[in-house]
Parts: sequence; structure tokens; C-alpha cells
Amino acid sequence: MDKTIEKLVSLCKRRGIIFQSSEIYGGFGAVYDYGPLGIELKNNISQLWWKEMTQVHENIVGLDSGILMHPRIWEASGHVNAFHDPLVDCKQCNSRYRADEFGEEYNSIQWDTIQCPKCGTTGKMTDPRQFNLMFKTHVGPVEDSGSVTYLRPETAQGIYVNYQLVQGAMRMKVPFGIAQIGKAFRNEIVARNFIFRTREFEQMEMQYFVKPGTDDDIMKEWKEKRFQFYPDLLGVDASKIRFHEHGENELAHYAKEAWDIEYEFPFGWSEIEGIHNRTDFDLSQHESFSGKNLNYFDQQENNRFLPYIIETSAGLNRMLLTVLTDAFWEDTENNRTVLKLHPRIAPVKAVICPLVKKDGLPEKARTIVDGLKPHFKVLYDQQGSIGKRYYRQDEAGTPFGITVDHQSMEDDTVTIRDRDTQEQTRISSDQILSFIQAKMN
Ligand code: ATP
Repeated sequence: MDKTIEKLVSLCKRRGIIFQSSEIYGGFGAVYDYGPLGIELKNNISQLWWKEMTQVHENIVGLDSGILMHPRIWEASGHVNAFHDPLVDCKQCNSRYRADEFGEEYNSIQWDTIQCPKCGTTGKMTDPRQFNLMFKTHVGPVEDSGSVTYLRPETAQGIYVNYQLVQGAMRMKVPFGIAQIGKAFRNEIVARNFIFRTREFEQMEMQYFVKPGTDDDIMKEWKEKRFQFYPDLLGVDASKIRFHEHGENELAHYAKEAWDIEYEFPFGWSEIEGIHNRTDFDLSQHESFSGKNLNYFDQQENNRFLPYIIETSAGLNRMLLTVLTDAFWEDTENNRTVLKLHPRIAPVKAVICPLVKKDGLPEKARTIVDGLKPHFKVLYDQQGSIGKRYYRQDEAGTPFGITVDHQSMEDDTVTIRDRDTQEQTRISSDQILSFIQAKMN
């Protein structure tokens, strides 16, 4: 594992952000649990996305469909037949790889000339086999083939099969969007790089239904908007994100045009979000598999058509890894580790510390906590030296440290310390709330 990622994994464990699943049983591959600070951070990110989609855009509404669905949906979508990754094994050391890691044109590779990256043996690699990534399960007590269904490998299909119900109930007019956040499951062959690729993860997908012919322009608009989300709302360094366009060989079976937003992780540039023009592929597939007409009726033009779909599909966990990697800072000058999270998404916004545990300082600090906690998450800490208390919070990404000292008892002011610059300013205690809110916005 990359050194920086290794340090991040250890910080995440130490500070209750992310834990390996089932640790007391020796761990469970490629699944992670989110601790008290991790879930706050994850919620802050997903709420930001949800607000951006369903509140800022008046023509986008939300949905929460089931993880289990009718198995025919996965035949219609192409997942039963085409959701495969090519798998190769080293017969010497039993290491397993995705064949496309050795090159996109893996079908033309002479596998008996390939050296195993792990054990170094040449000539022991198997030919690629296709491996379906869906988790199969059985519904009901009898495990016969009639009861097979799948844990959804993407949230998008739940949107497509509900699109007409949503459109009718909300009287939506094309163009309109449906947004959904939820779990997805993929039996990934190789899962590495911490939470980058896991078998259980969360997606934040928005499917935008448009009139055919307007799709290319609308695609451009969404590309722009989704790109800006990272620097503007999450505070991610803009020089570390870029677009990658899918070439002909990379395009999925449903896509006319596809772009990835990539982030420069310590392990290289990698996809965090995809923006796809899926045309009317999905709706026409569901029409033919369900036998239901899925046309949209345009009242103004008095005609019917099958909408095209522009999809924006982001992984919540990958977004979280992006934010954590981007925020990770080893401040060697001051011998501390800092998560420079934007105040908008930081799990805890401020720590409130009485300088000493006497003279009425703890009580005053408590009053400040009580005043702030209805607005956002804050923490009270009276344990250890003030420097240690600050450093503990620097590592957890808490942007502000507020100290109540003896002067506070006289003039009702406090010091407020900035996590990144470590500068302290004195402000009146009734200004703390507006000070922090201004920084969050
Ligand atoms: P990759 O090429 O990395 O396997 P993909 O192209 O299959 O990803 P999509 O099917 O487009 O990914 O899924 C959309 C988003 O869902 C991705 O951009 C990513 O953020 C997230 N995602 C996909 N698979 C995983 C996974 N195994 N773990 C975590 N997030 C994932």
C-alpha cells in the first residue's frame, strides 16, 4: 500500500473515522465500517450533494428504491450478461488480477509470457475468464433458480423503473432529474487502496431525463457542474482533478459518450465520478423486458418520445477518500498531523476548552457549548494541556479551537484558533456562532 494511504488508514482508525470490517475476527475483505467521526463526515458530504441536486435544482426530485428488485431488471439492464470483469490467476502463488490491469487490449496478450507481479514467475498465468460482479442471493425459503435475485450493483436501475411513477406523481416536465443515494454491491476481484474499491459501497446518482437531440448540450452543462462541485463545495484542490474521456474501447454497452472526473490519489489518477450519456438504452430495454410503454408525453408539442438519459454517478466513499487525501497534511514544522477539511464538511466544527478546570471557566465553556450545539456539532474538552487538546482536534479536522480563559470571565471574550494557520484572535462570545457560520459558507 502507498505510504500516504497507509498513514491515512492509521489516522482513520485512531480517530474513529474508518475501521476495517469485522476486525476482531481478523477482518473481512474490502468492506469498511465508519466510526463516529467518519459517519459525520460522510453525512456532511452526502447532504451537500443531496442539497445541490434536489434543492438548488427545482427540477430534480429524490427517490429511495430498494436494494433488492425484480431479477428481470438485471437482465434488461445487461448486468446478467455483460457485468463482467476479466480474471487471471497465477498458478504459482494463487494471486488474482483483473486482466485489464495488464492492458486494455488484454484479449490479445500472450498470457504464457506474462510475469506475475507478486511472485515473479513467468509462464504460470491462466487465460482470462469472465467473472460476474453481481452478488447473487435467494428470496424465500427455497433456494431454487426461480428465487434468485441480486444485490443491486448500481442505484440507477431503481430510478429507471420508477421514472414514470415519479414523473406522473410530481408532474415533472422534461428535462427533469431523479436523484438517489444508496448502497451498491460488487463482488470486486481485487479490492485495494483502502475505501477506493470495496465490495459494499454507496453511490450518489442523478439521472436526468431529456429530449433526444438536446442531450449533447445538457451533457456539457452537467460535466461543468459536477466538476465544479469538488473545488467549490468540497474544497478540493482544483489542480488535482481532471477529466478523462472514455475512448471507443472503454465505452460501456449503454453509453454514447462518457467522461470520468479523476483525482490524483497517491496511487495515481483514478475515477471518482462518471458522467454518461446513456441515450434511451435503459428505458427501451425496460420497455421490451417489461412489456410496458415508457414513453413520455410532451403536452406542449403534443407528441410522445422515449427520453434520453444523462447520468451523473459518484461514489460517496470515493468522494470521502478524495476529501481525506486532499486534506491530509503533515505539518513537519510544527510536528503535527492535520486534516485540512473545509469547515462545511468537517465532522466537528469547534472544540471548546476551559484553560483551567477551576474559577468558573468550565461552566462558562459549557454555556458556550450549549449555545452552539443546536446549530452544528461541537465538542467540550478539558483534558490535558491546551496545546495537546488542539493537536488532537487538528488530526480530526476540527477547524476551530475556542478557549475560555480568565479574561473571558471579565469581558465575555474568548480566543478562537484557526486549525491551519494556528492564529488566535479574540472575539466576543456572542459572535462565535456567526464567525463559524460565515466560515462554513
Ligand atoms: P471502476 O472502473 O473504478 O470499477 P466503474 O467505471 O465500474 O468504476 P461506475 O459503474 O461508473 O464505476 O460507478 C460509478 C461510481 O461508483 C464510480 O465513479 C465510483 O465512484 C463508484 N464505485 C464504483 N465501483 C466502486 C467500488 N467497488 N467501490 C467504491 N466505489 C465504487
